[in-house]
Amino acid sequence: MPEGPQIIFLKEQAEQFTGQLVLEPTGNAKDIPLNEIAGQALTAIKTHGKALFFCFPHVTIRIHLMLFGKYAINGKLNRELRLGLAFETGEINFYACDCRLIRGSLDELYDWSTDVMHVSFDPDKALEKLYSKPNRLICDGLLDQDILAGVGNGIKNEVLFRRQVHPESIVGEIPELELRKLLAACVAFCFEYLDWKREGAEVQHWQVYRQKQCPRDRIPLRKEKIGKTGRSCYFCDKCQKLYIPDSIG
Ligand SMILES: [Zn+2]
Repeated sequence: MPEGPQIIFLKEQAEQFTGQLVLEPTGNAKDIPLNEIAGQALTAIKTHGKALFFCFPHVTIRIHLMLFGKYAINGKLNRELRLGLAFETGEINFYACDCRLIRGSLDELYDWSTDVMHVSFDPDKALEKLYSKPNRLICDGLLDQDILAGVGNGIKNEVLFRRQVHPESIVGEIPELELRKLLAACVAFCFEYLDWKREGAEVQHWQVYRQKQCPRDRIPLRKEKIGKTGRSCYFCDKCQKLYIPDSIG
């Protein structure tokens, strides 16, 4: 599933069409009135976490690539088209994604301060929200899109490894300073990830996600589905500290 930095990268690729009219909208997206979009000018492209927005004068199309979504810019893929937007200078096509029409103001619908890559991201608010569910595992807390929009499973695993925090740590047992450092690491990692995308060198940079060996200890990593989100955790028992109550540990 694409994470925040990948969606910003997609936005950067699509920005060549900003200011142009949609000549021909196509596709089977049920929610999108193609007639209404035709002839409209794309005024802006925005993102919030893992969501991408194509803004028109009166409506916005929200696209979420979900688990299996794909896109092609100035090309087509051999699969069922969900939404295609043809402009004067090219086209962008989306497949297997979720497309919705938004008629209201994005500022009223979305809290930009929860988006880890937005200038208004508020780490104090994120900290407060994390501590509001103190019994949750940190691997679940970091994936909560109401707290850290844009953080996905790859980023979660890499950030926990960098900060040497075990994914099964209980949020309320992690010292505030460490939790603050974890949040800062999420932001820093997202921007590094975006740079790798721009350089086309993303895969070489994963230290634990989908890897087999701990780069610190040279021992096998553990891979397990942990927490309520049930997403795969890749971690090292030796160098990632488990924060749990003394009575358990
Ligand atoms: Zn290790």
